[in-house]
Amino acid sequence: MTTTTTTAAGITILGSTGSIGLSTLDVLARHPDRYRVVALTANTRVEKLAAQCEQFRPRYAVMSDADAATRLQALLKDRAPGVEVLSGQAALVRVAGLPEVSHVMAAIVGAAGLLPSLAAANTGKHVLLANKEALVMSGALFMQAVQRNHATLLPIDSEHNAIFQCLPDNYRAGVAPPGVRRIVLTASGGPFRALPLNQLEGVTPEQACAHPNWDMGRKISVDSATMMNKGLEVIEAGWLFGLGADRIRVVLHPQSLVHSLVEYDDGSMLAQLGNPDMRIPISHALGWPDRITSGADGLDLLEHGLLQFGAPDETRFPCLSLATAALETGGTAPAILNAANEIAVAAFLDRRIPFTAIPRIIEDTLGQCSVHPADTLQVILDDDAVARTTAAELIQQTRVVVAQ
Ligand code: NAD
Ligand code: MG
Repeated sequence: MTTTTTTAAGITILGSTGSIGLSTLDVLARHPDRYRVVALTANTRVEKLAAQCEQFRPRYAVMSDADAATRLQALLKDRAPGVEVLSGQAALVRVAGLPEVSHVMAAIVGAAGLLPSLAAANTGKHVLLANKEALVMSGALFMQAVQRNHATLLPIDSEHNAIFQCLPDNYRAGVAPPGVRRIVLTASGGPFRALPLNQLEGVTPEQACAHPNWDMGRKISVDSATMMNKGLEVIEAGWLFGLGADRIRVVLHPQSLVHSLVEYDDGSMLAQLGNPDMRIPISHALGWPDRITSGADGLDLLEHGLLQFGAPDETRFPCLSLATAALETGGTAPAILNAANEIAVAAFLDRRIPFTAIPRIIEDTLGQCSVHPADTLQVILDDDAVARTTAAELIQQTRVVVAQ
């Protein structure tokens, strides 16, 4: 069934210069009558945001940093004079909650996306959630904000979007769907799935970011290589679908064509398949409940021929067990895990620690930080800050040891 849209829906894209942001704009450019870009935001890429403003003519453009905003303003003076340039976290929160905006693509990477993503939920938007870290940090509060403000939460993560597509129509965000026995998240295993274990220590950021199937930002690429990405996704799925860790299974599937599955009480398993192209989940969530074109090619099953599945190796991927344990611990444990991971991944990308130190830093940070009930935003932000400091100190100690 298709419906006719009479007025274009206003959309804010948080993180429009990133991988998800670019794919979102690619889909939006195919549907100019259906969507109107109201706000675009970026962290540091001034020239990229200027080019996007020129093409999409939003009402607002937000740079995180005030100096970057001044440079953007200068670029836009001739190129897109009608765009109002803003800066800072408060401006991100503001453009996520504008009354003329009905859809917010939450595609900032990491904890920096928490407050703006939450603002979209608090103002009852269609929240297209790519920023999994926001949900990992503040799952209970986020889901309450969605429910209290009648927001519509649409998962962008390909696995969660696949599950969403396989659930019954009466599924309610955060409530275990009736008749569902468990869900199965598929994972490619990343670039080091089959690398001899003794070579993991020496892998470079470039190798870690060269994902075999997906083209993504650097942080999520490293998360995929450690499988922390899947760990964060287990926590994300727990909140989105109201399921405990015992009802979420992770299965390796190197081809990345089956994006995830739902197992029902009667033994049926429903799966969503497609090429590994994020424009598919993005256009699903944008168009929902309609189906709109995405620009992605259909999947040619005969070309691929083989779909393989296997169990993840916990020795190779300790981050997966660390994340599952944090979900089971609850409270601020997932926020602490996430913060330590962000600090450790940044240190690895800066070549300050080896790849194999990432899980050690996270485990030691979890060991040193107290977990609290995650019932206010302040507690979550405080524990996030303590975990960042702790992880940074542990990294410093690691470097001293390496240097000796
Ligand atoms: P990316 O690094 O390519 O882009 C991140 C975006 O966030 C950029 O626009 C950047 O300007 C902005 N940003 C970064 N730091 C910021 C800060 N401190 N303040 C404000 N803005 C900031 O990342 P990505 O790959 O597009 O991923 C974005 C989110 O989507 C992540 O949470 C990731 O886990 C999730 N996700 C991505 C993919 C993918 O295929 N790329 C798939 C599933 C989920
Ligand atoms: Mg994913």
